[in-house]
Amino acid sequence: MTNRVNYIRSSIEEMEETIRTLQEECEHEFTITKPHGELRESLVEGIYLGSTDNPWSGPRGSLKFSINCLKCSLTKDCSVAYICPKCFTKLEVDKSPNLRKEYWGKSYIYYGSLIHSCPNRHFVIVNDEWDQ
Ligand SMILES: [Zn+2]
Ligand SMILES: [Zn+2]
Repeated sequence: MTNRVNYIRSSIEEMEETIRTLQEECEHEFTITKPHGELRESLVEGIYLGSTDNPWSGPRGSLKFSINCLKCSLTKDCSVAYICPKCFTKLEVDKSPNLRKEYWGKSYIYYGSLIHSCPNRHFVIVNDEWDQ
């Protein structure tokens, strides 16, 4: 009995390894399975706010969406604060801190704003970042 269990276990491990390899080598073709909610524009035109209802929340409160690859079934949960919801590329961060007030209308102690943008120019978002 034990041998059979061991056999099945090692078969499962082999299959998991195969799946991992397939997913690593896949040229992913992602589709959104769970869309993010509605983004709000900041006071600066074309730049969206990185978090939801609570204007005081940082990236933790950011809108999430889920994607699934049509070719290899890889699923990922993404945050609009870090991943472009159009091309699913990682957003590039402009490291120079900006005044939070310019985007949110209010400043917030210990927080500055960083601009994250899609390298393919789909999307620009401003995130609260701890700047102490
Ligand atoms: Zn894939
Ligand atoms: Zn993009």
